[in-house]
Amino acid sequence: MTPQDPPKPSVLIVGAGCFGLATAYTLASSGYDKITVLEKDDVIPSRFSAGNDLNKIIRAEYADNFYTDLSISAIRKWQSDPLYRPHFHQTGFLNVTSENAPQATKNVVTNYLTSIRGHPAFEGQVEEVHGAEGIRRVAPAFTGSTAGWSGYFNKLAGYAHSADASRAVHDACVNLGVEFVRNGEVSELVYGTKSSRRVCIGVKTRGNKIYHADKVMLALGANVPGLIPQLGPQVTGRCWGVVHIQLTPEEALPLRGIPVTNVRDLAFFFEPDEATNKLKFCHMGGGFTNFALSPNGLSLPYGKLEDSQFVPLEDETYIRKLLQEVFPQFADRPLIDKHLCWFADTVDSDYIIDYVPDTNSSLIVLSGDSGHGFKMLPIFGGFVKEVLEQGSQKEAKWQWKDDTKLKSTGTWRGDTATQELSKLERAR
Ligand SMILES: Cc1cc2nc3c(=O)[nH]c(=O)nc-3n(C[C@H](O)[C@H](O)[C@H](O)COP(=O)(O)OP(=O)(O)OC[C@H]3O[C@@H](n4cnc5c(N)ncnc54)[C@H](O)[C@@H]3O)c2cc1C
Repeated sequence: MTPQDPPKPSVLIVGAGCFGLATAYTLASSGYDKITVLEKDDVIPSRFSAGNDLNKIIRAEYADNFYTDLSISAIRKWQSDPLYRPHFHQTGFLNVTSENAPQATKNVVTNYLTSIRGHPAFEGQVEEVHGAEGIRRVAPAFTGSTAGWSGYFNKLAGYAHSADASRAVHDACVNLGVEFVRNGEVSELVYGTKSSRRVCIGVKTRGNKIYHADKVMLALGANVPGLIPQLGPQVTGRCWGVVHIQLTPEEALPLRGIPVTNVRDLAFFFEPDEATNKLKFCHMGGGFTNFALSPNGLSLPYGKLEDSQFVPLEDETYIRKLLQEVFPQFADRPLIDKHLCWFADTVDSDYIIDYVPDTNSSLIVLSGDSGHGFKMLPIFGGFVKEVLEQGSQKEAKWQWKDDTKLKSTGTWRGDTATQELSKLERAR
C-alpha cells in the first residue's frame, strides 16, 4: 500500500467454510488488514461445512463453458500453487453410467463429454470408455464385472483432500493476521445509518456479542436464507448422503491411484483416503430438501450435527449395488460415518456473489454453491475481491436475482428429482 492509497475497509466474514476461507485468504493476501471470520463451530474446518470432507471432485466438465474455463483456471492453481498442490490428487475422472441407467442419465454423461470435446485444454486428455474391457484399461484395480458401464475417462481431473486443503487455507489466513472467532454463531444482522442511508454495520452472535465492520459478508453455505429470509426464492438448502467403508491397509493398497469414479445412476467414489484407508461413497441424486422442519417455509440444514447423521435408505441401496458391480469383495462391508452433506442450491446452479439490495453496499452474500463450489477454493476469493473493489457484481450470472429473473435454464442435475427428507425412510 502506498501512502496515497485509501485505507482498506474492515471486513467481517460469517462462516469459515470453503467460500469464507477462500475470501479471507485472498483479501488478506491483497492488503486487507482488518478481517474477522466468525464460525459457528468450535473447530475449523467446521463440522458443519460441506467442504469438511475426505475429498471433493476437481473437474472442469460443465454444460456452460463459463464454468469450464473458471474450473480450468482453478485446476491450474491446484496443480501449481504450493498452498493447494499438496492436497490435489490428479487421478483422473471416470464418468460413466451402468448398464441399466435411464436414457436421460446416459444423455447427461454424453453432454458432459460433448462440453469438453472441442476445448483445447482437454486435447489428448479425454477418451471414451465402453464396457468392462474399457473400464479395466483405465482402472485395472476394479474387481467387479462393471458390465455395460459406458462413458469417458478425463485425465485433467482428480480430487482434493478438502478438509486438509481447508485447514491449510485457514492456517495461511492466521499467518496473514486474519482473526477467527470460533463458537461465533451469528443470529442477527445489525443495521444502522451512514450518511442517512441504511447499512449493515455488523452482526450479533448467539452469545449476544456484537461485531462491527465496514463490509459484512455472509458465507453460510446452505444456512444463508436463515439470516436473510428474502433469499428464500433464490437459495434452497439441499443435501446428499455420504457414507464410508473401512478398508485395511492391505485392502487399500491395490486401490491407490484409482480414478475418481462417478457411476452417475448409482454413486461416486474415490481412492482410499491416505490417512484412514476409508472409501467414500455418495449417491448424487437431485438432493433432499428440508422444508417440513425448517421455519418460514425455507429449506435449511438441521441445526445440530447429530440430526444430520443418517442417510436415506434408498441411497444405501444404490451404494450397495455399486459395490456389487465394482468391488464385490466389499459388498457387505458396513457403511459407516453416515451423514447428510448440505449445500446451497439455486435454480440455475449459478453462485450468488453480490450485495444485498437496500444495504448500500455494506452486506454481501457469498452463496449458491449448488454443490460445485469446492473446486473453486483457489480462485473464489478473487471473485469476491472484484465485487468489493468494483462496487457491484458485473457478472449477471452471479447477481442477486429478483423474482422476475428467477428462471431455470435447466440444471446439470436435470435427470434426477429432488425429494423432501421428511418423506423418506432413514437408514440409521
Ligand atoms: C455431498 C457433497 C458433495 C460435494 N462434492 C463436491 C465436489 O465433488 N466438487 C466440488 O467442487 N464441490 C462439491 N460439493 C460442494 C462444496 O462442498 C460446496 O460448494 C462448498 O463447500 C460451499 O462452500 P460454502 O462456504 O458456501 O459452504 P460451507 O462449506 O458449507 O460452509 C458454510 C460455513 O458456515 C458456517 N455457519 C453456518 N451458519 C453459521 C452461523 N449462523 N454463524 C456462523 N457460521 C455459520 C458453517 O459452520 C460452515 O463452516 C459437494 C457438496 C456436498 C454436500
